[in-house]
Amino acid sequence: MAERYEDSYLYKLRHSAAHLMAQALTELYPGVKLSIGPPIENGFYYDVEPPQTLKEEDLEKIEKKMKELSKLDQRIEKLEAKDRADAKRIILEETTLGHGPENAEYKLQLLDAIPDGEPISFFDQQRTDREGTKHRFIDLCRGPHVETTKEIKHFKLMSLAGAYWRGDVKNKQLTRIYGTAFPSQEELDLHLHNLEEAKRRDHRVLGRELHLFMFSPRVGTGLPLWLPKGAILRDTLTDFMKSEQLRRGYLPVVTPHIANIKLYEKSGHILTFREKMFPFMEDEEKETFILKPMNCPFHIEIYQSQMRSYRDLPVRYAEFGTVYRYEQSGEVAGILRARGFTQDDAHLFVRPDQLLDEFIGVVDLMQAVLKKLGLHNFRLRLGTKDPQSDKYVGHEENWTASTKAIEQACQQMKMDYEISPGDAAFYGPKLDVIIKDALGRDWQMGTVQVDYNLPERFDLEYIAEDGKPHRPIMIHRAPFGSLERMIGLLTEQYAGAFPFWLSPVQVAILPIADRHVDAANELASTLKGYDQPAGAMKLRVEVDDRRETLGKKIRENQLQKVPYMIVLGDRDIENGTVGARSREDGDLGAMPLEEFVRRMKEEMSK
Ligand SMILES: [Zn+2]
Ligand SMILES: [Zn+2]
Repeated sequence: MAERYEDSYLYKLRHSAAHLMAQALTELYPGVKLSIGPPIENGFYYDVEPPQTLKEEDLEKIEKKMKELSKLDQRIEKLEAKDRADAKRIILEETTLGHGPENAEYKLQLLDAIPDGEPISFFDQQRTDREGTKHRFIDLCRGPHVETTKEIKHFKLMSLAGAYWRGDVKNKQLTRIYGTAFPSQEELDLHLHNLEEAKRRDHRVLGRELHLFMFSPRVGTGLPLWLPKGAILRDTLTDFMKSEQLRRGYLPVVTPHIANIKLYEKSGHILTFREKMFPFMEDEEKETFILKPMNCPFHIEIYQSQMRSYRDLPVRYAEFGTVYRYEQSGEVAGILRARGFTQDDAHLFVRPDQLLDEFIGVVDLMQAVLKKLGLHNFRLRLGTKDPQSDKYVGHEENWTASTKAIEQACQQMKMDYEISPGDAAFYGPKLDVIIKDALGRDWQMGTVQVDYNLPERFDLEYIAEDGKPHRPIMIHRAPFGSLERMIGLLTEQYAGAFPFWLSPVQVAILPIADRHVDAANELASTLKGYDQPAGAMKLRVEVDDRRETLGKKIRENQLQKVPYMIVLGDRDIENGTVGARSREDGDLGAMPLEEFVRRMKEEMSK
């Protein structure tokens, strides 16, 4: 079991760094009012009310002061107040360094909020300077903290933001100062480097630069428009998944984007999903329709449209279904969290005795997908029931059986998984794929869920060997999660330089002069292979015949991360060669066309 962040040295360090920053602020800006300063995921912050407006350029000054204070090697003690009155006295009398009673307003409110009977303690730092003057900085805090300020050496203040006191817009707006701290300079450097990299790889920026997708206020928040190159990327992913699924016995289905609300009343989604739904529509017959937030009920309708025998199962219906969820505008984030997105969805209707094998099949598919996408660093998380909660539906024995089936499937596939109690869906346990990207960040992507609830609600049946109706189990699964999320992740993972098979443009042909354009088009049509016998490679090729200098065209195609460029001039046309340049290996020199084609075939098969 990994150590919890809250128990780690890093957490203590950042807690202490926040106080060190507060101390620096009290020295630099006498009269500053301190409020709260907790560690957070990637560092810490402190919310303060400074006597003057702080600007980004002040951060350097504050940092410098922190360095000075750090070097003083001040011991950090824990001061326990005897009782509430004693704590109040400490806040009003003991805090010094430009920090008097008139600045204690927020701390006193925090003290009031501490429940009776709970110990009240302080971060307490004392030192005597060379002149013999005593300095003390006290800050209401339970800790834990490091032992001396000397340990807080490798830190950086990151940014400023506004934050309402207690997160309430009716309260005063304070200044939040974000910082981070690490035990070593290397770790700090790596973190800062990763932040820069994350900015460089931001899928929203790259999505624009690589012409993948766009947003328009006239279309609406969270509703992406896919540009040709992004659409090609989607199609390529979709084609790959469809062929994998066909091979594995899935059947394609297509269902509408809207449905009568009754369908979702029957499924129960109206109750559990209401606030994520777009406003309802009413037609002339007073029937209410909704935009679909999920595909499951449609697939259930198809399953139910005929009598099923035990020999028909498993039935696996797959659909790239676009669903709509009304995310709060503050939560919409590029294509990672959009209001309309397409799931690589499927529902498997299985007999209880098929659950294990079908689950193994799904995990195997997920594995194949991740491998093909080059996402090798991932882990599985089994979300189980929280025994304390009553939000779950279904019989206990079903929960036990399905949780066991998932565990067995993972074990048979020799895949490690972690168990996360309370992370199950309300209708059954689930297995999530968490991918670690090139920067070490976690992305929750694909999911498989076992469901006893919907078959119950829709009264699904199959006729078993005993001639009697039995209830099938449903498996919901989406190996990508959604196309949008997967493309977002892949864009950041590869910093836009997609693997060859996925690249929207695989080869760019750059004619040197106008007189080479015809030959370039001819070469392009050879590589596209549409007029050739079946089995010919169909590369995605673009001729860049803009009247720009060759240098500029090369640079721009490099920025577009095109895997191969062919520069076409007199000599190559005469000799039947191509002068190729690879994204990874640079200039490859002139080579016969056949050799280039061979290389392309190798690339495709990777
Ligand atoms: Zn603290
Ligand atoms: Zn579903």
